[in-house]
Amino acid sequence: MAVHTQSFVDELASIVGAAQVLTDRDVVAGYVTDWTGHWTGHTVAVVRPADTAEVSAVLAACHRAGVAVVPQGGNTGLVGGSIPMHGEVVLSTARLTGIEQVDPVGRTLAAGAGVTVARAQQAAREHGLDLGVDLASRDSATLGGIVSTNAGGIRVIKNGNTRSQLLGIEAVLSDGRVLTRWKELTKDNVGYDLPGLLAGSEGTLAVVTRVLMRLIVPPSETQVALVGAESVRAALRLVDGLQRAGLTLEAAELMTRAGVALVRGHRDLRAPLDVDAPFYLLVEVSGGDEAQAALFSVLEDAGTAVRGAAVEAGPAHRLWQYRESHTEAVSAESSTPPVKLDISTPLREIEPFLTALRDDLAAAFPAVRAICFGHLGDGNVHVNLLDVAVGQREAITDLVLRRVARHEGSISAEHGVGRAKAAWVGLGRTEVDLEVMRSIRAALDPATMLNPHVLPAR
Ligand SMILES: Cc1cc2nc3c(=O)[nH]c(=O)nc-3n(C[C@H](O)[C@H](O)[C@H](O)COP(=O)(O)OP(=O)(O)OC[C@H]3O[C@@H](n4cnc5c(N)ncnc54)[C@H](O)[C@@H]3O)c2cc1C
Repeated sequence: MAVHTQSFVDELASIVGAAQVLTDRDVVAGYVTDWTGHWTGHTVAVVRPADTAEVSAVLAACHRAGVAVVPQGGNTGLVGGSIPMHGEVVLSTARLTGIEQVDPVGRTLAAGAGVTVARAQQAAREHGLDLGVDLASRDSATLGGIVSTNAGGIRVIKNGNTRSQLLGIEAVLSDGRVLTRWKELTKDNVGYDLPGLLAGSEGTLAVVTRVLMRLIVPPSETQVALVGAESVRAALRLVDGLQRAGLTLEAAELMTRAGVALVRGHRDLRAPLDVDAPFYLLVEVSGGDEAQAALFSVLEDAGTAVRGAAVEAGPAHRLWQYRESHTEAVSAESSTPPVKLDISTPLREIEPFLTALRDDLAAAFPAVRAICFGHLGDGNVHVNLLDVAVGQREAITDLVLRRVARHEGSISAEHGVGRAKAAWVGLGRTEVDLEVMRSIRAALDPATMLNPHVLPAR
């Protein structure tokens, strides 16, 4: 290690304590490889500050030394945004884990950015409330992470994405200044929505240290149906029918025959229904017996568009496991790290997109297996490509994302741009739009010290 690097590490240690500056190669290994196994980098040090003041001092020191910083929460991101590919300092929020307050009257939760989603949910549930966001990575993903990626997940259809749950934020700018916008107000129109701006900024504008989240009242009962559908159009009609019947949708998830077969093989599960179907729709609606009767009635009205269905009272883990095991099965069953492309299209375009994509892939990459699943109500499809040869990753990504653009979609529905999609960020954004984004970044982080290789670099 060069002398100047050692003195920089010593300076970081003087702020957070030597035990919280990690440099040993084996110890930092888990911080420099991402969940998918696709991105592995290296770092001068992983720093684990204990509070906002320490985060501020660490960022000021990095700024003075001209060392870039990658903020990291639970490291469950799927676009390589939390990995230091160029030797950046990793600023881990692993110690920002205080749950400061759950206010059952105002229905808010104030907590450190390093609190996991599962812990925040648990804290809210102790008061008969819940977090509006839920996702399969809940045990590791952090509040700072879901805010910074504006995570979606399975409850967006009812509650909106993470940005809609965010009331207040404390965050540290790249030079160490602390930005606090902390109001427990539903209505507050004094100027720009800065918490909303930081939501989805992927660690490029500031390091989030504390968040004030809105909480929801969870349904006391739910009904879950796993439905075999003739087509995506039939699944969409069913979702529409449930809403028109006055039912409140808690989730509406789409799977394919190939995806369910992959999960069954991976988890050794029996078939979810006694009939086979090209598509599967998993819906959860709030309510008890009455809701279940209404659900059955909509299913009957659907006629032959529905090939079969299983209905259980929530939480119905048995039915949910077919959907929730997809990410894990895709990673385990692919011979190379899967290419994971999280996209969205207008609802009317989902079926044409999936059909065209199948044809594109068959023509250009016949050996690749595509497993598509996602949040149907939000037009969000997770395109997972298995067995992609390492040298073909870029070409296949380009093929899929250009196909998305032709169907008026977004190349990132909920995982963000990160490093994985930085080259394609212009698809679906105008030049002026990109210029405005660059200006905002330059205003908050003029020297591009925060996550410099994520989102469009300046
Ligand atoms: C099994 C599985 C299921 C998933 N399901 C979903 C899903 O349904 N919906 C969905 O949206 N995502 C999903 N994800 C992706 C991932 O869990 C989310 O992106 C999550 O929000 C990342 O949180 P994290 O704490 O792990 O952040 P990290 O992975 O550590 O970081 C993600 C990004 O946020 C930045 N960041 C993290 N913390 C901070 C902070 N405090 N301040 C500033 N920047 C920060 C990082 O620099 C990086 O750019 C899934 C992932 C897995 C592995």
